Amino acid sequence: MRKVIFSLFFLALSTAAASGQQYDLVLEGGRVMDPETGVDAVRNVGIRDGKIVRVSTEVLSGRRVIQAKGLVVAPGFIDLHQHAQNLESQRLKALDGVTTALELEIGAPDVAQFLKAKEGRSLIHYGTAASYVAARSLVFGAPLSGGTILPKSGPATDQPATSEQIEAMQERLRAELDAGGLAIGMGIEYVPGATRLEVIDMFRLAAQRRLPVYTHARSSGRVEPGPTVEAVSELIGAAAVTGASLHIVHINSTCLRDAMECISMIEGARAHGLDVTTEAYPYIAGMTSVNSALFNSGWQDKLGISYSSLMLPDTGERLTKERFDELHGSATPRFVVIFSNTQEMVDKVIPHPLVMIASDGLEGHPRNAGTYSRVLAQYVREKGTITLMDALRKMTLMPAEMLERSTPAARQKGRLQEGADADIVVFDAGTIRDRSTFEKPMEPSVGVRYLVVGGTVVVNEGNIVPDVFPGRALLGPEKRSASHDYPQP
Ligand SMILES: [Zn+2]
Repeated sequence: MRKVIFSLFFLALSTAAASGQQYDLVLEGGRVMDPETGVDAVRNVGIRDGKIVRVSTEVLSGRRVIQAKGLVVAPGFIDLHQHAQNLESQRLKALDGVTTALELEIGAPDVAQFLKAKEGRSLIHYGTAASYVAARSLVFGAPLSGGTILPKSGPATDQPATSEQIEAMQERLRAELDAGGLAIGMGIEYVPGATRLEVIDMFRLAAQRRLPVYTHARSSGRVEPGPTVEAVSELIGAAAVTGASLHIVHINSTCLRDAMECISMIEGARAHGLDVTTEAYPYIAGMTSVNSALFNSGWQDKLGISYSSLMLPDTGERLTKERFDELHGSATPRFVVIFSNTQEMVDKVIPHPLVMIASDGLEGHPRNAGTYSRVLAQYVREKGTITLMDALRKMTLMPAEMLERSTPAARQKGRLQEGADADIVVFDAGTIRDRSTFEKPMEPSVGVRYLVVGGTVVVNEGNIVPDVFPGRALLGPEKRSASHDYPQP
């Protein structure tokens, strides 16, 4: 009898707790959109201890209640390709709806150092690949320094490696993966001395670790030998013979006029059982380091552009041969904007269902601040070539699923569902837009009203909340991702 009364007492207690439950934060009456379940309905969202605990039509009470009526409530955007990792750029990302921004294309030269520098100081979630170009530079006796992630063109980039050097690179990459690297980042175009076999050897290591390879392909353009189609074939071949998952970055700027052919190659590889994915950013120009091997001789023919297609982002100066030679030869890395694509091609690439959105964010290029808002403004609202749900899928669920190949913590990301991490963007679909331009690349986007990172509000009524650093590391399988520390609901 006592046992029964006891049980009834606890039942009464837990029912009371369920109905009168107090959440840390409630997003009330917004248009909840979740690409995985297809939910698109007005709901209240209850958040506790960094997790989405309740998504419901019931009234929820919270220590703080945000009115989201008329606003879209979606999973925070996951940017798989973000180079600028400082606080200023993180603020721009937050105002563009991004809750996770990862350096996966190239990778930080020292994973442990990168993670240590960001711990407790990050507005949004972060993580990095192990850098193949850094490992190569190290092995060739020219280690990267001073915060640069791309090597200057020279013997370390242009010479083939011996088998001992290849083994030493793999050794370094293993250590970097042990330190928490999420993948192997391979900027192959930046190390043209790498043989096909060297590339395959790096893919082999990724396959052994069951981790993906993120790659900037060997070359671009239509000039034989080495046109875009061959560069993409090399990657698909390396994935096929090793079994490694492959993510080909910025298909827009790698494949240029042949972007749709490249996407059809990826479709074909997938149809035949390979794990190949891709991404793009919505701009007609790229940007990279002018003293890198991407600008080794022959670049004009390859890319079909000339000196005046290159622009210094800080001054708007268009380059001449003399100026280019000076900057390419300099030990100081300077970025140049490369006008190499057409609007027509970008407009075809962005809506393609296989293409995720990723920014390749770097200070000096408007993509750093505006990528996500620009897609929502131009392709969803103005051109109407993508539905809002499909755009969200490209920004949330697809990158989260890609990240699941690196860490199980990603299963809780990219979803607006009970049990998911409370990484949430609340935006006005009618007014969201980018404001950054090639002239003013650091202008923040408008339309993101609130951004929640791990349950903490970091954008409040359109403004950055000062001095909050809820960003946690996403880590490869050798280390547990910090987001695992959130209590389970
Ligand atoms: Zn790249």
